[in-house]
Amino acid sequence: MTYDIALLPGDGIGVEVVDATLPILEDAAERGGFSVETTRYDWGSERYLQEGAMMPADAIETLEGHDAILLGAVGHPDIPDHVTLRGMMLPIRKAFDQQVCKRPSVLFEGVESPLRGYEGEDIDFVVFRENTEGEYTDAGGHEHQGYAHEVAVQTAIYTRQGTEAIVREAFEAAEERDGRLTNVTKSNAQAHGMVFWDQIVAEIAEEYPEVTVERLLVDAASMDLVRRPDEFDVIVASNLFGDILTDLGAIVSGSMGLAPSANINVEGHSPSMFEPVHGSAPDITGEGVANPLATVLSVSMLFDHLGEDDAAANLWNAVASQLADDGAPRTPDLGGASGTESVVSDLRTRL
Ligand code: ATP
Ligand code: MG
Repeated sequence: MTYDIALLPGDGIGVEVVDATLPILEDAAERGGFSVETTRYDWGSERYLQEGAMMPADAIETLEGHDAILLGAVGHPDIPDHVTLRGMMLPIRKAFDQQVCKRPSVLFEGVESPLRGYEGEDIDFVVFRENTEGEYTDAGGHEHQGYAHEVAVQTAIYTRQGTEAIVREAFEAAEERDGRLTNVTKSNAQAHGMVFWDQIVAEIAEEYPEVTVERLLVDAASMDLVRRPDEFDVIVASNLFGDILTDLGAIVSGSMGLAPSANINVEGHSPSMFEPVHGSAPDITGEGVANPLATVLSVSMLFDHLGEDDAAANLWNAVASQLADDGAPRTPDLGGASGTESVVSDLRTRL
């Protein structure tokens, strides 16, 4: 079996972590008894600065034939964030119906959480973030410059199909895990979209009687993710709330450099995309110290999605074994003094 994977290294440390991860991806595939062919597309901010577009006009057709996409990060200090986001990531998520964003937060043994008193795998939850609509809907926006007082309108759209897709995936995961689902909304203040969302959660909950459902408003959820992160199992949230809660989830589990993510097409008719949660981190770009582990864990999620469970577990376990080992190299975000390359070389010996 050969899988055809598109590489979108993107910008800044995105390029460094994707390049560093490639040999591990190939090793893990070989040990898993399959092979991987990669095609690299150098799209992103440099292209935007030279040609005015982050991706070519036929980018979506080009990606379509691949089995999966591995993305580094996009972002550039000279380009507004909404331009980079709308120039590459959002169009890909949308074009391939990657409606489900799955982001695990695991405090690995040997990693220190900034929250006192947590260690080992005390923290182990997964956030299911709706990925293509909600507050990030690119429709119905208006900026009214002509009024005496300027007005901007931002519309959030929740469709039944989109909401059911994310909620169902979250229930499926809760059923496989510890059977607890936390539904995070803001239904007291957003009485249209969020009440509709809650209603869909209640309907789908009937199909999963063995899953316990807890409902939290997003303000309370933010507090509780700091106060009692060990009590969460599966969290389901809208696009914006999921985005915010997963940065929080990444940092309570030790570092942005450890948080992987998957953008999944649940129907399986188009490629899904895997990427570290972190951005292009211009502050450390070029120094060779970016932590590659979030990308390695994202490749583990990619293999899992392709049904290559053994290779996925092998990669995940190699990362866990490295982090648990006091003598192993670590990047500065984890308190070490090693570079990206030494972390990768050490990891290859653990596969
Ligand atoms: P972008 O605008 O693309 O999101 P950013 O500067 O906001 O880029 P983030 O990913 O949000 O970057 O990261 C915030 C900070 O966390 C970075 O500035 C960097 O110092 C640190 N960081 C993020 N990812 C890593 C990593 N893989 N290894 C080490 N440090 C990281
Ligand atoms: Mg950022």
